[in-house]
Amino acid sequence: MQLIFYTQTTPEEYHLAGEEFPFPHLQSCLHPDCRVPVVPSPHGFYTRNAINTSFSGRILIRRYYCKHCGHTFSYLPSFCLPFFQYTTEVIFAGLLGHFFNMLPFLRALILSLHWQRQHMQFYRRRFKANLKRIQLVLRQLIPGVELPEPDYIKNDIKTGAQKVLSIVISGFDTIQAFSTRFFAQCNISFMAPCKLF
Ligand SMILES: [Zn+2]
Repeated sequence: MQLIFYTQTTPEEYHLAGEEFPFPHLQSCLHPDCRVPVVPSPHGFYTRNAINTSFSGRILIRRYYCKHCGHTFSYLPSFCLPFFQYTTEVIFAGLLGHFFNMLPFLRALILSLHWQRQHMQFYRRRFKANLKRIQLVLRQLIPGVELPEPDYIKNDIKTGAQKVLSIVISGFDTIQAFSTRFFAQCNISFMAPCKLF
């Protein structure tokens, strides 16, 4: 299973640090079915891609093993989303550019990342499909937050998406902070397919 830890390190810094990166010292198992206070052992690394506008390369992902439950889990830096090669920031930037009609910004982003049409199409469809779930989690993370009515989202999904994006921007210091807390709340990322929820 893949989990997310918060870091302000950039993909390039993380890549350069390699195995020397100060990975989190865990005091208990993070597997949702276990969470027993037994220190998990570091269990090697695997590599994956991370791509943003200034970096594209393979990065190391730390794996841990829990002696108590026998599960292994990996810990992704918060600039990564499980199963996405592009970083959390650029995907979020693409969503902002699309839903707020920031066309020159969006064009420049797409150009610098060499995205095909299908990239943005996939991200915006996934975000729309996840809007209800994201609202549910925002309600838990920001008590008293004012969210659009369900009918409102159904009738005008673009404005609904704008409202949800605005809440994410104003409610969290960074998109990485939102992504990490979202994941900690429900054990999936905000861009994971909804059928898993
Ligand atoms: Zn465990």
